[in-house]
Amino acid sequence: MISIAQPDVGPEEIAAVNEVLKSGILAQGPKVAELEKAFAEYCSTKYAAAVSSGTAALHAALHAAGVGPGDEVITTPFSFIATINPVLFLGAKPVLVDVDSKTYNIDVSKIEQAVTDKTKVIMPVHLYGQPCDYAELATIAEKYSLKVIEDACQAIGATYGGKKAGGLGDLGCFSLYATKNIMSGEGGMITTDDEAYLMSIKQFRQHGMSGPYQYEGIGYNYRMTDLQAAIAVEQLKKADRFNEARNRNARIFDRGLSDVKGILVPATKAGRTHVYHQYTVRLTEEFPLSREVLIEELKKRGIGAGVYYPKPLHTIPHIAKHGYKEGDFPEAERAAGQVLSLPVHPKVSEADARTIVSAVKELAGV
Ligand SMILES: *Cc1c(COP(=O)(O)O)cnc(C)c1O
Repeated sequence: MISIAQPDVGPEEIAAVNEVLKSGILAQGPKVAELEKAFAEYCSTKYAAAVSSGTAALHAALHAAGVGPGDEVITTPFSFIATINPVLFLGAKPVLVDVDSKTYNIDVSKIEQAVTDKTKVIMPVHLYGQPCDYAELATIAEKYSLKVIEDACQAIGATYGGKKAGGLGDLGCFSLYATKNIMSGEGGMITTDDEAYLMSIKQFRQHGMSGPYQYEGIGYNYRMTDLQAAIAVEQLKKADRFNEARNRNARIFDRGLSDVKGILVPATKAGRTHVYHQYTVRLTEEFPLSREVLIEELKKRGIGAGVYYPKPLHTIPHIAKHGYKEGDFPEAERAAGQVLSLPVHPKVSEADARTIVSAVKELAGV
């Protein structure tokens, strides 16, 4: 079976975890500090702070940016639900803006009309590993004095204008969940150049503490363990190699599938690099099989395809109740009905990638 996601763990990760186990320091300790330093260096930011998940990273970043009750956060309805839940937990309102039909990233031409005097943050998602239209977004953020928090959970190593994702906005959030481009089982990271944000996040992840039993405000236990950090330190060293393998597979799919009727291969816009967290095609009405049947037939041939995401976020009840209904974001809704992701991760060999192309072409009747 060629599965849709599979962590790539080598002897380096195993040895590193063993070292931590032997050291006796299992919770947040020197390995977390080592990871933070390496991660900041990788993203060319001044600082990075580790937390327990990508969701925790988004929560901590929004909190650091001062988001609270009555504030509005502009983001996209076409993402994983963890993009929006932390906004709701802080008592703020997610103000959604439809996506671009080609990249599925937030449509920057529609952001300005969503800005109100309550807007505090714009939170773009670099969906599937492709950076959003950042220059246009930054212009609007600057004009209205808004902070930008990147949801870069799928985009470690992707670049825009030569800058790494996570190093573009005021704060960048990453996930190290098991299926992400680099992983530590569970884990998250926040990048920033701002020392005040760093301090806020370091307190927030540790019960709001600035010192022993000294509480500066509300907080959680959002700490990463040294066991996880040991895995992530080794994974980070391999990030570029992993992303190159994803790009190699993407090129095989591009070449093999771009002429197939009813399939639109993903487009990478100028001035940026894509790290293909997902290789996502759009199945149009011209494709002879429905998406469900295609997924079923690929599965019979040992290929695990997936849909990210089948439901736009504004149609989910606890989000819809903030003033949204079906029909509000036609591009996100159309995408949710038509996207299909093929296995592209580094464990997919060139031969596997060609097998996937052949299977899709066979099912397309070409
Ligand atoms: C994975 C992901 C998250 C959440 O990360 P976790 O580590 O699973 O909490 C948030 N946003 C996006 C876009 C993601 O892909």
